[in-house]
Amino acid sequence: MPKKQKATVAKTPVFGANVFHEDVMREYLSPKIFKQVQQAIAGQRELDPKTAQVLADAMKTWAIGKGATHFTHWFQPMTGFTAEKHDSFFHPTEPGKAIMKFSYKELIKGESDASSFPSGGLRATFEARGYTVWDMTSPVFLKEDSAGTTLCIPTAFCSYNGEALDKKTPLLRSMEAVSKAGVRLLHAIGQTKVKKVIPTVGPEQEYFLIRREDYEKRPDIVFTGRTLFGARPPKGQEMEDHYFATIREPIGAFMKELDEELWKVGVSARTRHNEVAPSQHELAPMFAPANIACDHNQIIMETMKRVAARHGFVCLLHEKPFAHVNGSGKHNNWSLGTDTGLNLFEPGSNPAENDIFLIFLSAVIQAVHKHAALLRVSAATPGNDHRLGANEAPPAIISVYLGAELSAVLNSIAGENLIDSGLPKEHKMLDMGATALATVPLDSSDRNRTSPFAFTGNKFEFRMVPSTASIAAANFTLNTIVAEALDAFAERLEKAASKKEEIRAMVRETVKNHGAIIFNGNNYSAEWVAEAARRGLPNLSNTVDAADAIIAPETIAMYEKFGVLSKTELTSRHEIVLENYIKTIRIEGYTLADLAYRQIAPAALSQKSLLADAIGRLKGLGADSQPEEQRLTKISHLLRELDRKLNLLTDNLAKAETIEPHKEKAVFFRDQVLSATNDLRKTIDALEENIEADLWPFPTIAEILYHI
Ligand code: ADP
Ligand code: MG
Repeated sequence: MPKKQKATVAKTPVFGANVFHEDVMREYLSPKIFKQVQQAIAGQRELDPKTAQVLADAMKTWAIGKGATHFTHWFQPMTGFTAEKHDSFFHPTEPGKAIMKFSYKELIKGESDASSFPSGGLRATFEARGYTVWDMTSPVFLKEDSAGTTLCIPTAFCSYNGEALDKKTPLLRSMEAVSKAGVRLLHAIGQTKVKKVIPTVGPEQEYFLIRREDYEKRPDIVFTGRTLFGARPPKGQEMEDHYFATIREPIGAFMKELDEELWKVGVSARTRHNEVAPSQHELAPMFAPANIACDHNQIIMETMKRVAARHGFVCLLHEKPFAHVNGSGKHNNWSLGTDTGLNLFEPGSNPAENDIFLIFLSAVIQAVHKHAALLRVSAATPGNDHRLGANEAPPAIISVYLGAELSAVLNSIAGENLIDSGLPKEHKMLDMGATALATVPLDSSDRNRTSPFAFTGNKFEFRMVPSTASIAAANFTLNTIVAEALDAFAERLEKAASKKEEIRAMVRETVKNHGAIIFNGNNYSAEWVAEAARRGLPNLSNTVDAADAIIAPETIAMYEKFGVLSKTELTSRHEIVLENYIKTIRIEGYTLADLAYRQIAPAALSQKSLLADAIGRLKGLGADSQPEEQRLTKISHLLRELDRKLNLLTDNLAKAETIEPHKEKAVFFRDQVLSATNDLRKTIDALEENIEADLWPFPTIAEILYHI
């Protein structure tokens, strides 16, 4: 039975109230078992069945005490969403009676058929069976919703043969890889006390809130998450009056409840504000170890949707729900810390002499340059294709922003002005000198909001990540590519006679061989696109083109070397990316074709007959009917255009299905289906502007965006 409530819990009545965290464990477990469990969580020992059962019983007692009736293995399949299947604690004993049971086996491992999740062919070749395995490092929590209270156990999801079928497994593996490589490097530098390197992540989540009644009248949003048509609203975001604006009452009520729900499950929701587009908002949590940040981001997205429903809203996470205003992204703040409390990207007061900082920074520069295409595909979704390069988000070209001071530091170590610091011409880099730079506080370095991968003080902000997607791929990619670079540096340093000299040499080589990835200027400019091409940087404007980086030989070699993903797993992920692309564009095509045929054309036909009636009446009266006739001509013309474009779209949709294999099919969907959908949209938007409001069967973008 639980002992007396501990002061630490009482002090924070809301935060973490629904989390089975350390303090709760201490309360529910004997000191001996508590210690064993903590050691198991830290990866220092196995959890034996007896201890595991005591732990499972404690969880059950705690959960039932808080009203739980069910438990679930909560996992993150390749859909990018979370999945759950609830089992109740009830075990019938005799007719009409049951006991509440929760065995350690149920805690640790779940055997779910779950065969309908995307597997990219993995499960056709192996058993259809899938397993969920408890991720002990991510705390168990209680989810409260209309289904009651459910004990959620964060798990990884894998096939019978142990292949990862989820986003979580490679993330966990990559955390170990980067930790091992980081520790090896730190030990080689002489930091022998460090036992662990931890990637930390703070993802900022953007979203839109729209009224439920508008949502229900827009099948395009219901089926695809975005508006597939809609004329330009008279007012977009040009006044910039929504960014950081006062939070209106109904939105405030939503945000308050959202924060409280998140705090209860231990998500440290910290910052909330209005974003630049009308009806767009953002929430940022405090950073956490990558796997927990990933779980929390999933919880954030889920909770946003649930709480929105309670307030009569629908939360849109799509990267581009509305043309004509900004879409949403996720700024993935990423850093590396140690178990001894170091932030490895902390430049300190004298970065030019800070070996740890310089070598970790160099590793990132190398990694991002070498694997730019892979990093790009880690942020690729069909929705994000609308955003990247549209002057509202970073372009599809990966580059690293360092800022003037750091660029100068690297130039001075390289002994040449290899990096354009972005400073005015009259500033000679080398004249600034490393010693003088020591006095420049790095925090004051300018922000560059156009950069896809910006150094921001003591972390990197990867700004390409799609708002809908799990952050797992972005982070397991980052962790692994950096692990590779750190490991190579460690190998050299271990053999070096003078560590100091070798570090300088490695930094110098990085600047020389990989400095091309550094760009401090305006990423939105046309000149940068040309300049990036000259530098040989990949510009992968869409998911289909980016996808191949997943199966590039150097990708496979790296992921296999660091035990993060096997060739089979990568091939399956490549398949899933293309499959998801095809399905998304197909749904969009069919949705717009259906709306055009069954709702938009009929509205135009009604308008036509209204005008024809009016013309007849006016003519009968001998009155002027010219304006009506002009309108009628315009609508007739647009209707003919609509029919033509609609036929092309449906033809292309049918043709697309005949194409194999996947890559060619995806290319056809991109070049023939998506383009036909976009083209049809133009005519629909023109019709919207020519049909009277009462006849138009949908809320317009203006009405949706300015709902309050
Ligand atoms: P900004 O620098 O973008 O103005 P903040 O300093 O508030 O904003 O940080 C934005 C996000 O970056 C937050 O989620 C924050 O927790 C996260 N962050 C801060 N430090 C780190 C770190 N060391 N590792 C990962 N994320 C971090
Ligand atoms: Mg923001």
